[in-house]
Amino acid sequence: MSPQSEALRTILIVDDNPTNLHVLFELLNTNNFKVAISESGETALETLEFISPDLILLDINMPGIDGYETCRQIKANQNTKNIPVLFMSALSEPINKVKGFDVGAVDYIAKPFEALETLARIRNHLELKDARLALNQANETLEARVQARTAELESLNNRLALEVEGRERQAADLRQSESQFRLMFEKAPIGMAVTDIFGNMLEVNDSLSQTLGYSDTELLNLSWHDVPHQDDAQHLQSLYQGFEKGEIDDFQFEGRCLAKDGHIIYGTLQAVKMPRNAERETYILCQFMDITHRKTVEAELRHRASHDALTQLPNRNLLTQKLDQSLLRIKADPSHKFAVLFLDLNRFKLVNDSLGHQVGDQLLTSIARRLETLVRGDDTIARLGGDEFVILLSRVRSEADAIMVAERVETLLQDPFQVDEHVLFTSVSTGIAMGHPHYEKGADLLRDADIAMYSAKSRHSKDKETYSLFAEDMYQRVSGQLRLESELHHALERDEFQLYYQPIVSLKNGQITGFEALIRWFKPGQGVISPADFIPIAEDTGLIVPMGEWILQTAYQQLDKWRQLSPIFESLKVSVNVSTLQLMDPKFLSRLDEILMKSGWNRRGLQIELTESIFMGDVDGIIEVLNQLKARSIELCIDDFGTGYSSLSYLHHFPIDHLKIDRAFVNRIQEAGEQREIAETVITLAHQLGMDTIAEGIELPHQLHQLKSMGCEAAQGYFLAKPLNQEAAEALLLEHSSQTEKVSLF
Ligand code: C2E
Ligand code: MG
Ligand code: MG
Repeated sequence: MSPQSEALRTILIVDDNPTNLHVLFELLNTNNFKVAISESGETALETLEFISPDLILLDINMPGIDGYETCRQIKANQNTKNIPVLFMSALSEPINKVKGFDVGAVDYIAKPFEALETLARIRNHLELKDARLALNQANETLEARVQARTAELESLNNRLALEVEGRERQAADLRQSESQFRLMFEKAPIGMAVTDIFGNMLEVNDSLSQTLGYSDTELLNLSWHDVPHQDDAQHLQSLYQGFEKGEIDDFQFEGRCLAKDGHIIYGTLQAVKMPRNAERETYILCQFMDITHRKTVEAELRHRASHDALTQLPNRNLLTQKLDQSLLRIKADPSHKFAVLFLDLNRFKLVNDSLGHQVGDQLLTSIARRLETLVRGDDTIARLGGDEFVILLSRVRSEADAIMVAERVETLLQDPFQVDEHVLFTSVSTGIAMGHPHYEKGADLLRDADIAMYSAKSRHSKDKETYSLFAEDMYQRVSGQLRLESELHHALERDEFQLYYQPIVSLKNGQITGFEALIRWFKPGQGVISPADFIPIAEDTGLIVPMGEWILQTAYQQLDKWRQLSPIFESLKVSVNVSTLQLMDPKFLSRLDEILMKSGWNRRGLQIELTESIFMGDVDGIIEVLNQLKARSIELCIDDFGTGYSSLSYLHHFPIDHLKIDRAFVNRIQEAGEQREIAETVITLAHQLGMDTIAEGIELPHQLHQLKSMGCEAAQGYFLAKPLNQEAAEALLLEHSSQTEKVSLF
């Protein structure tokens, strides 16, 4: 031990013997120890509360508490227990060394003190204490380092444990999401597949196999390029090439695919690159959805938007589009020619009103089907609604081609239609407009074809030709006609109609047997308008029904009045023109009965003139009405015979009393007697069928004589008398009757 370190050492000497204290004090002091002294055990314990000596020399035998007890207390105190205690005892004193060691002493020093031994023992124990202290410190440091390291390891361990747990959780999550994906893939309601970047199927699910109608194994031998319809295959191929070239990461394809059995499936294919796997290969995840149903509905809606629900023909929308396309074409190439035929059925309202809409609808459908047989593939037949059809001839050489088609339409519709139990005849009025580059839009061309049709229709009752080619001046005429139409609506309530009466004369004796009632329209500001100009309009608009009632009533009342003038007029007749449309009106008979009842007179004397169009409608229905009329003692006459639909073969089915030979045949009869065959044939035929004949339009005396010689029973015409107003007719009648029976009109 170095002198410097010894200088720091403090030794507490506890002894009641002053000599001993002194000796030891001197010894230690001179050896560079700091010395503290206590003379009893009690004072020593008190001193130890203030100082902390490095060693204690403790006497055993002391008054008060002895050395053993003092040592025990020192060792019991936490602050002092590590201070080495050396007992001091005289050799003469009996001491209990075992007891001393038991209470914590480390050594004994014998009195009288041997200086060197005492010092040696003191130094030994101080070194021992230092060594123990160093050892303790080393232990503590070691312990601390061990603890620190342990803590470090523990935290590392915890981190690792957390990390492991995290990884395990991740792995579990991965496993779970993988199995979820697999489950989803397998059970997905839409088709799913995994392919390589070329489209080869690597995995497929059941939905895909079912949708495409293949087994899983078959499908796995295919690629996406084997499935699409040939028209869509190219598109899909180029999309997949985007993957190959690395240009895209996903795509959506919509197109047609073919199922194994060849039927077409509309589908959307959503393909997306999957993240590369460990082998750094790229796979494509595909979802295929069958959208056939949606496509079908869409197609249906598109079809409905562009087609007529009844006939399934293109409607106005589609037609207008096609017309626009044709106009674009003709603007680009003016040598190209096309034509539009606007068809409107004549008296279609008659069928609809008399037989009901269902029959009307079936007739329209049958007409549509028949028209379809007429045109080429790139032509279009459309229905605009009602009884209007349009034929777009996409390529014609000239107007003549269009006219030829119009004539073919006419011929095509001449054969009757069988709808349920009804045999129906029909005819059309056709307007033709040629495509021309000056038209802005298809709708304009259609309007002109419509105008031409209107013009054809207005001629319909007078003319044989049923078509009309559009001409610029038609605008004027048609707009005039349209005006007429709207004014016609008010004419009846404004009392603008009058009946004129043209005498019908017996060819046997020249007597007036009756009158034909002919309507006149006295239109304010415009004078008299001919029935030929407004009757067709009245028929088309249905106005003919109320107008016809007024005519019947007025004519019949007139007849009643004339009969009351004189008994010789009792057998007088009035002939009233009744439109077929009016005849087929469901209320016609009941209204007629009301009119007949009002007169209260005998019912004879009413004749009804019908045109040949009655052969066109519902034949059975018409015969039924005609029989009803016959039951009311009304005579029936076919007017203008020979101009219309002349079904001679039909004639004998109908309860007809008279045939009126049309003016056209009367006109042809020449002075020398040529051209009389037709009139003669008609007269012979009528007689064979038990009917008599009336010739109309007699303008010249030779016509009268020749007809008389042919056996024609009666006649009317300007040569005999023009249609007269009521007063003039009455005057003629009275004048005629006042003369002798021998006097005749010719
Ligand atoms: P329709 O029944 O054949 O009548 C005969 C037409 O010939 C009448 O023309 C008459 O004025 C005309 N006419 C008579 N004699 C001659 C003649 O010698 N030469 C010439 N060129 N014509 C003659 P209107 O009155 O203009 O009537 C034309 C057509 O209009 C009628 O032909 C008839 O179909 C229809 N119509 C006239 N009034 C009525 C009516 O009250 N109801 C119905 N539904 N139709 C009527
Ligand atoms: Mg007539
Ligand atoms: Mg006539």
